[in-house]
Amino acid sequence: MGGRAIGETVPVYTDEDCEGALLMAKWPAGYRCPRCAHPHWYDVVARGRKLYECRSCGHQTSLTAGTILEGTRTPLHKWFQAMHLMQFGISAKLLAELISVTYKTAWLINHKLRHAIDRWDRELPLEGNLQLLGEFYGYEYLQHISPSSLSEAAVQPVVIGAAVSECGDIAHLKIKKDSKEQPSRSTEAETLDRFVRQHTSDAIVPRRVAAVDRRRNRGTTSRLPAVWQGAIRWLAWTFGGIGPKHLQAYLNEYCFRYLLRRDLLVELIGMCGATRTITYPDLTGNRTGAQAIRWRRHAASRGARKVS
Ligand SMILES: [Zn+2]
Repeated sequence: MGGRAIGETVPVYTDEDCEGALLMAKWPAGYRCPRCAHPHWYDVVARGRKLYECRSCGHQTSLTAGTILEGTRTPLHKWFQAMHLMQFGISAKLLAELISVTYKTAWLINHKLRHAIDRWDRELPLEGNLQLLGEFYGYEYLQHISPSSLSEAAVQPVVIGAAVSECGDIAHLKIKKDSKEQPSRSTEAETLDRFVRQHTSDAIVPRRVAAVDRRRNRGTTSRLPAVWQGAIRWLAWTFGGIGPKHLQAYLNEYCFRYLLRRDLLVELIGMCGATRTITYPDLTGNRTGAQAIRWRRHAASRGARKVS
């Protein structure tokens, strides 16, 4: 679906819609004071913000505190529109256009939603009968912009793992980058083994795991090769490829969309209400912080020097 067609699907949400949905997601059993668990509150407004004040201990909290939306200056309805748009797997550039925010805000919203998806993914290991497919994600883009950085980091070993029903339907799906620091030195068996240890429940016994080999099993009924093709097409067409740093977050998003489909929005709202937020520096790993600089007095060495 093209950007314009997707844009036509963006719903109009009122503040009441969004507040009601977030309230349900944050407190599924109704309001509970975060300090004393009292179930009744007063509505108060402080500096233009709506707050919940506990009728027992007086503690004030906001609707977004403790959720993925904490600290946001973006209106709630734009967050909900972004959650709706996640079912199409769009780029931050298109999201920025469709909900009228800056590129950086759109990028941050998309990544915060992916952070909630990541938490959901961690809580649901694969179980049952498994099929595994070992593949490589080549970051071809890197070949053009920076051939010198085309090291082993540019080609990421990936395992596509699915819990399948007797008739071959995919009940649960994970696509994971190999976690080893130098995965190129691993054999395929070692890579698959690491995947099973990290992403499946303890109940999995090795004989219930079947590795899918595309070369030997031509005409295989496994859906995993097609699932993987879908993932790399999406990454290529929507983003022009993804570098190693954020690849896992995009792969998790792809699996989430594949599994949830029509229930995606409801599930995503619930996850956003139950997941603590993450900051921009934590997402990017670019912690700047304060750095001590000592100015040198001699003209010959004018400049700044880091003090370690
Ligand atoms: Zn209280």
